[in-house]
This record gives sequence, structure tokens and C-alpha cells, in this order.
Amino acid sequence: MAEQRESFPRAGGSPNGPAAPRLTLHRCENSHSFFFPHVSCPLCGANLQPFDDPPDAEIVSRTIVRVSPTGSPFALGLARTASGAQTLCIIEGGSETDPGKDVVITKRGGLYYASPRPRAV
Ligand SMILES: [Zn+2]
Repeated sequence: MAEQRESFPRAGGSPNGPAAPRLTLHRCENSHSFFFPHVSCPLCGANLQPFDDPPDAEIVSRTIVRVSPTGSPFALGLARTASGAQTLCIIEGGSETDPGKDVVITKRGGLYYASPRPRAV
């Protein structure tokens, strides 16, 4: 099964342009946002509707998982988008993805990955 990978926005292009990758998240009428769908908003009980959000996020915290199914350690962290949606994600990029750093979230194989945001040239 081929793994689908979303591409980063092109350097120099608008991160919000029509070609920029987007995340489909879920939000209630009170602007509570979530990566995963729920029957209703876990915070206020309102209905949730899907919406497209830019893949830009900030790393909130990270840790190293040293005992993993593959036997190789990896970085796992919490990322938050500007809309407030948070998710656990596999972190790529070493110190470029420390807490407080800006990252781009991609979804591959049903998992979320945080990678360093490409620098503008
Ligand atoms: Zn809500």
C-alpha cells in the first residue's frame, strides 16, 4: 500500500494559497477545535462541523519514546494549531522542533507528523 505524503507549501508561495495543503479539523459554534471528530463538542456539547485549517502549528511539548514497537526511539509531542486544535504527533527534525517552535503538520498513513516549517527564501 502506497503511503500518501502531503507536500510542504512552496518556498516563496502563499501558505494560504489554493495549492497549500490543508488539514480537515472539526469545530463547534464556540470555536472549540479538534483534530478528530466527536459526536458533539467535548467542551460545550454543541455540534461539530468539519473545516479546513492551515497545517501550521506550534510544538507545545515533546518527549522521546525509547521503547517502541519498531525498536527505534522516536520523538512524540503535542502540537497546537492557531485555531487551538491539539494532537499528539511524531516529531521530525531534532532541535528545530523543540517546544515553542513553529512546525507544519502532515497526515501520513493515519498518523500526524510535525516537521520544521520550511524557511522562506
Ligand atoms: Zn465547543
